Amino acid sequence: MIPIMDNHMHLQLKGQNIMAAERFRKAGGTHLVISHMPYDEFPIVAEGNFKRTFERTLQIAGMVRNATDLKVFVTLGPYPVELIGLAEKYGMERAVDIMKKGMELAADYVKEGEAIAIGEIGRPHFPVSREIWEASNDILLYAMEVARDVPCPVVLHTESATPEVWKDLAAMADRARLPRDKVIKHYSPPAILPEENQGLFPSVLSSRRNIREAISKGTRFFMETDYIDEPSRPNVVLPPDTVPKRTMGLIMNREMTEEQAWTIHKENFEAVYGIELEF
Ligand SMILES: [Zn+2]
Repeated sequence: MIPIMDNHMHLQLKGQNIMAAERFRKAGGTHLVISHMPYDEFPIVAEGNFKRTFERTLQIAGMVRNATDLKVFVTLGPYPVELIGLAEKYGMERAVDIMKKGMELAADYVKEGEAIAIGEIGRPHFPVSREIWEASNDILLYAMEVARDVPCPVVLHTESATPEVWKDLAAMADRARLPRDKVIKHYSPPAILPEENQGLFPSVLSSRRNIREAISKGTRFFMETDYIDEPSRPNVVLPPDTVPKRTMGLIMNREMTEEQAWTIHKENFEAVYGIELEF
């Protein structure tokens, strides 16, 4: 048996949830990182409401644990785009404060062992006003400081990862004194070499093309689907069974060795999250 992890999946009550996790397991998946997301049932997070939404993610993780023998982990954090709605509703100053409190709350869950990282957090992936941009960076820097103190990783959602973006994020981690390898860049291209990603940790979206390129360069990366479990957009971003299918396919074609799979899915996980996996 080979350990196979999807490092970034979302599950929703209104979606496939347990069935999606079961698809992952049936294809050979063994452990799963469920990332918090804003849920429709909580329209704009009202002040102090992050707790309710985080609890929803923990509830879904519990459902998957009860229904399957998957090892399930959770990351929690205020989704970056939420700042926009909060700023409209409460004004920027208060919105920033609410987001920062959300970071502190996520850190509390990590300390209690209910979550393994703060994420996904960061900044909107589309152009925004200068005010929103600067506030997002302020919040992100604060979150990195919070993570440094826990200590735990952060999982970043940002605009597309160009060389300038990697440099910018690495500089921010340095300012916060958060080790660069505790900064996981979700939705990463196969920029897995330190000279490409500045030592941040890439979680590569597992299209065939991306993973072929990544594995040709090395093993310092995670694999993810960013499956969003949205009934109106089935199998987006990638279907929930993609990581095990991709991994097994590459092993069969001798494009990835079993040893490399152990590194990507187990050793990297243990090193970055500081959690031992039993196999
Ligand atoms: Zn995501």
